[in-house]
Amino acid sequence: MTKNKITRRSFIKKSGVVTSLFSLSSQSIFSSSTDDNRIIVVGAGLAGLSCAHELEKAGYNVVLVEARSRPGGRVSTYRDQFSDNLYSEMGAEYVDSTDMYVQDYCREFNLKILPARQYDGVYVRGNELSMDRIRSGDVNLPYTGTENGMLFGQEVQYIQKWIELVNKKGINSPEVQALDKISVEDILKEGGAPQDIIELYTYANATESTTTPSKISALAMILSNIKTSGFSENTVEGRILGGNDQLPKTLAKKLGKKIKYNTPLHRLDYDSNGVTATVKDNGKLTKISAKKCVIALPASILKNIDVNPGFSKEKIKCINEQVYGHAMKIAMQYRERFWDNTNSIGQRVFTDTPLRRIYHFSIDQPGPRGILLSFTSGEDAIKLGKLSDDKRNEIAKNTCSKIWDEATQHWERGVAKYWNEDPWTKASYSFSGVGQKDFREVLARPEGPVYFAGEHTAIQRASMNGAIESGLRVYDEIKESMRSL
Ligand SMILES: Cc1cc2nc3c(=O)[nH]c(=O)nc-3n(C[C@H](O)[C@H](O)[C@H](O)COP(=O)(O)OP(=O)(O)OC[C@H]3O[C@@H](n4cnc5c(N)ncnc54)[C@H](O)[C@@H]3O)c2cc1C
Repeated sequence: MTKNKITRRSFIKKSGVVTSLFSLSSQSIFSSSTDDNRIIVVGAGLAGLSCAHELEKAGYNVVLVEARSRPGGRVSTYRDQFSDNLYSEMGAEYVDSTDMYVQDYCREFNLKILPARQYDGVYVRGNELSMDRIRSGDVNLPYTGTENGMLFGQEVQYIQKWIELVNKKGINSPEVQALDKISVEDILKEGGAPQDIIELYTYANATESTTTPSKISALAMILSNIKTSGFSENTVEGRILGGNDQLPKTLAKKLGKKIKYNTPLHRLDYDSNGVTATVKDNGKLTKISAKKCVIALPASILKNIDVNPGFSKEKIKCINEQVYGHAMKIAMQYRERFWDNTNSIGQRVFTDTPLRRIYHFSIDQPGPRGILLSFTSGEDAIKLGKLSDDKRNEIAKNTCSKIWDEATQHWERGVAKYWNEDPWTKASYSFSGVGQKDFREVLARPEGPVYFAGEHTAIQRASMNGAIESGLRVYDEIKESMRSL
């Protein structure tokens, strides 16, 4: 994931000007009369919630419609599925030290972020390697063309010439922009990287992007290395203590009855005077009219919604073609925390198995039971996605038994979540595909009274921080447009 480079703008502060211009309406949220102050927000993920929260604080009459029975979207903490009050993040998990929008809300809502542990070990090509020994240069990764002393960032030595090109000619030069026409796999091959480096990248950064090196834009990869020096084994990640769902739940609580759950958007009509959203409410189609509408849905969902008149050609192309990856998490409950035993490879293991990253999730939760979590993506998630839950669990159990001898005897159960089969997401998260360098800006641009939020419209895409960044951007855009009325 790319790191956030922008600072939080002052617009997040409650605006006294707007509050005094508009008063809160006491109408029922489904009243059909048009209200000049009413704004419909669609989707109660972090993008929609943050936008609705700020709009509501500023005095707008917000109606937030959500298809599911809960807030948070791709922030999803499973609690009921495990024993002893254990919980697990099945969607968004890590908050980086640079994720200032998430950090700001957490501070405001008294939510504590605890740093997560770094990788202890690597299990690739059947070899168990300790991260300490990799770092000290005692052992090498069993991949041709790698440098000693590190796990992530092995591709950087093969892309130096393009990094220098950006430094010399600038990001906007035609030569640099042309890199968007080729993939990460293409550029690595052109830079002389052996096939092993491409394979390692699949398990390293491409796992983060939930796709394969052949689908990611080379330009995006070069720029992420220049701006952020990429994801590395030293990236400081944290998690919200007690579960990430506390953040969307707190925002939802503040919005109270302004959120309508189990109410999916079915159709959107708009003209220069406003919008009419047709939603399914208790199985019945109901219309809600408003001055403006914020669409905070993934493009993978928006592309199937009936919009009249349609959006601009450019927008429709980007909505239809924006690429998303595949992601699955499998939470495995064990009777004992054998990964802490002295003979263990460790608690957090980077692997090339179908489960890819496997780590102790319940580290901040009391034992003796514990949860190992797998985050797998790309081709492995697609393959597991085709299997039944029983088969997914069997593979999870067998894979862990190869890494930890005691795993099988302590196994209790597994719970899988494959985001691409979720009817309200149908994807993992967006990434910068080949030829898609300009998509984000087009996807974020308002069309008449319709505004667009969501991680796929954010500078820091594919993250909770990006979702909030987009929600706050739209809040700003609406505030500006209302001011100029
Ligand atoms: C497996 C996985 C791991 C991740 N790991 C991380 C991580 O470690 N750190 C990180 O920062 N981010 C992570 N992310 C990314 C992060 O979850 C997302 O970027 C972010 O939560 C997206 O928020 P959003 O509001 O844009 O979209 P969503 O959360 O998808 O919200 C959209 C909302 O719209 C609703 N909806 C859909 N259709 C309709 C409809 N027709 N009508 C009304 N409502 C509708 C959905 O139910 C949903 O609530 C991860 C995501 C996944 C899937």
